[in-house]
Amino acid sequence: QLVLVTGVTGFIGAHVAVALLNKGYRVRGTVRSMEKAKELVRLNPELKDKIEFVIVKDIVEPNAFQDSVKGCDYVCHVASPFFTDNVTDNKTQLLDPAVKGTLSALEAAVTEPKVKRVVITSSFAAVNNPTADPNTGYSYSEKDWNPLSYEDALQTKNGNFAYSASKKLAEKAARDFVKEKQLHFDISTVNPPYVFGPPIHPMNSMDSLNTSNQVLWKLVNGSKVQPNIQRWQVDVRDIADAHVLALESPKLSNGRMLVTQGPFSTNNISKILREKLPEKKDVISEPSDVPFNEKFFNIDNSFSKSLGLQYYSDEQTYVDTALKLWERAKQF
Ligand code: NDP
Repeated sequence: QLVLVTGVTGFIGAHVAVALLNKGYRVRGTVRSMEKAKELVRLNPELKDKIEFVIVKDIVEPNAFQDSVKGCDYVCHVASPFFTDNVTDNKTQLLDPAVKGTLSALEAAVTEPKVKRVVITSSFAAVNNPTADPNTGYSYSEKDWNPLSYEDALQTKNGNFAYSASKKLAEKAARDFVKEKQLHFDISTVNPPYVFGPPIHPMNSMDSLNTSNQVLWKLVNGSKVQPNIQRWQVDVRDIADAHVLALESPKLSNGRMLVTQGPFSTNNISKILREKLPEKKDVISEPSDVPFNEKFFNIDNSFSKSLGLQYYSDEQTYVDTALKLWERAKQF
């Protein structure tokens, strides 16, 4: 069975490809350039001759995936911009690639009768209300939606809100698409919060490291105390498995799955890493004394667990990520 993975040279896309290959699927990955595809294989020699690469220069272009979907049984649409700093044009930088890219993936699937399901990498950002007080102890589940509208998304000067809205609007557009048409395939979404994990994808420098891993990199790159951040996390390898589950599970037909290991605080990450890797103490940021906020919102991951998804331990995620980050940093 052949799976089209969009954005296969991205942080999550590369791991999704690995998880699919491990499960016996064949993978066709879209890339913006063959140089990047070659770099992905150079970094991961076990992928040599395993992935078929096709160029899709810009997911915003009309019919972006029309040619690449031919002969595919499934699509995992992972590609979408994820950055929140220095956003200067919400529409062209975030909203259009997220929404149009998702619709293009669905329109392409319409043209390939073999496609059975399109899995979309959505986000907890599509679920969470970024304007609400985060300290009410509210427990988010698959039924929740970020309330930001397209107008809000165009106007906001907050890059975080604009990114959040791009993910909500892309997922909504996909759900409207399947509701309005008689299709030969269904969809499912994987909705992760902050994704940490070993980066195996091409990068130009540590500054170009994907957005979520930058939180962890700042804790282990020799900087002093970092301001404490508390959020929710998941390991990239769990997210990759979640994509396989979202592709296979009948219970996820037109469904949605929140995936999280649990909450993190940067304080706690530093503490755990200093404990587990004492020889690296000098480059691991010193934890501040801000305590864990027990009133912080909750994410209910019971649905994903009921479908059989298993999660890495926090310690394993932090240690594996830090070790890989240090290894990758030597390259630059
Ligand atoms: P990356 O930036 O590493 O990956 C993004 C991928 O999308 C890259 O392959 C990138 O290509 C591709 N891409 C972006 N814009 C375009 C475009 N206009 N045309 C063609 N390709 C494009 O980020 P992540 O791996 O973290 O994100 C992947 C997905 O996961 C996104 O949908 C993101 O919203 C979602 N997500 C991520 C979370 C996280 O914490 N990391 C949390 C929740 C959701 P290139 O490699 O050439 O830049």
